[in-house]
Amino acid sequence: MERQEKSKVVLLPCSTYDGEEIYRLLREGLSIMGGIGKLIKKQENILLKPNLVRKAEVERAVITHPEVMGALARILREEGYGNIVCGDSCGIGTAHKTMAGTGMEKQMEKYKIPVTDFSIPVKVDYPQGHQAKQFVLAQDVLAADAIINVCKMKTHALERVTGAVKNMYGCVCGLQKAKGHTIYPNAESFARMLIDLNQLLKPRLYVMDGIVAMDGNGPTSGDPVQMGVMLLATDPVALDTVFCHLVHLDPQLVPTNVHGMQYGLGTWKAEEIAVYTPDGEITLQEAVQRYGNSAYRVDRERYRRNVWSALRALKIFQKKPYIVEEKCRRCGICVESCPVEGKAVTFKNGRDHIPVYNYRKCIRCFCCQEMCPHKAIKVK
Ligand code: SF4
Ligand code: SF4
Repeated sequence: MERQEKSKVVLLPCSTYDGEEIYRLLREGLSIMGGIGKLIKKQENILLKPNLVRKAEVERAVITHPEVMGALARILREEGYGNIVCGDSCGIGTAHKTMAGTGMEKQMEKYKIPVTDFSIPVKVDYPQGHQAKQFVLAQDVLAADAIINVCKMKTHALERVTGAVKNMYGCVCGLQKAKGHTIYPNAESFARMLIDLNQLLKPRLYVMDGIVAMDGNGPTSGDPVQMGVMLLATDPVALDTVFCHLVHLDPQLVPTNVHGMQYGLGTWKAEEIAVYTPDGEITLQEAVQRYGNSAYRVDRERYRRNVWSALRALKIFQKKPYIVEEKCRRCGICVESCPVEGKAVTFKNGRDHIPVYNYRKCIRCFCCQEMCPHKAIKVK
């Protein structure tokens, strides 16, 4: 059946983290969306959900930029929203610790927005889930009427990219996130679970910080790359799809896009997406010509199904993590992060040596690669 309305994605060209410029553009972007008042009522409790996966210098493009958070906070306060909190469940550490020293804590203080660590878990049944029938979510997430998902444009070892859909995983409480990788152990089932999570929590607005994005060994060990855009949408699949086009990645190669469309979260079809800039509507092709980056390093390989997928199921041709010895500082965070019972990466040869993988046990969740603070783990 043909969709009545196209999914609107607002593309804001922005080459700087100057707070005033971001504020001006976000105001313009929200007005193109029809105004924040159309999305969230004044008396509602708002949760600002950045990407705070783990502590890192802002310049490394691991976390949502504090100036984007500050500009959004300012707009919400100016528009008269009273009840706002900001939080995330980080891969390592707490939201407070991850924010400290980045400037985000100062922005939140300035606009009197309390920061919450998502420390209280609540079990939530979700019988209508396509993949996930239950979640363990942070109480603060459930207390919110309206979530604003403020994600970062980055690559991801498991899902190829992490953007609007994936950022919601930080609403799952603490260690449950690692456990989730054992329950949904491959890119497809993990993506379906993410779709369920987005459909359960229904963020009102998704904002992507792609001014400086991350490419290569993302989502935490890649390299900053200037993309010069912010994206706004209420359809996270359409937003992630525009991101894919901008980095010359077929959106159908991203499992969250495919399952997101299949289960009605949004669309990856170009003809169902309308891209707006402050100068008016443009085609996706124009967006790619003006703002795209074919040099963005992301996994564009097309894995063939049938025979190849059968072989991959045997782990022979699956991507796998490995440690670059010269970079490893023996901190042990990869071992701690591994969600597999008995660990698939261990200090088998003692702490004087780098950790060793047991690839037969490894479920290829890439949590170790995501959490290594020294960029020592790569995927091949
Ligand atoms: S997390 Fe990284 S640096 Fe730390 S032990 Fe593992 S590979 Fe080495
Ligand atoms: S070794 Fe790494 S990729 Fe393998 S299961 Fe453990 S955390 Fe996941």
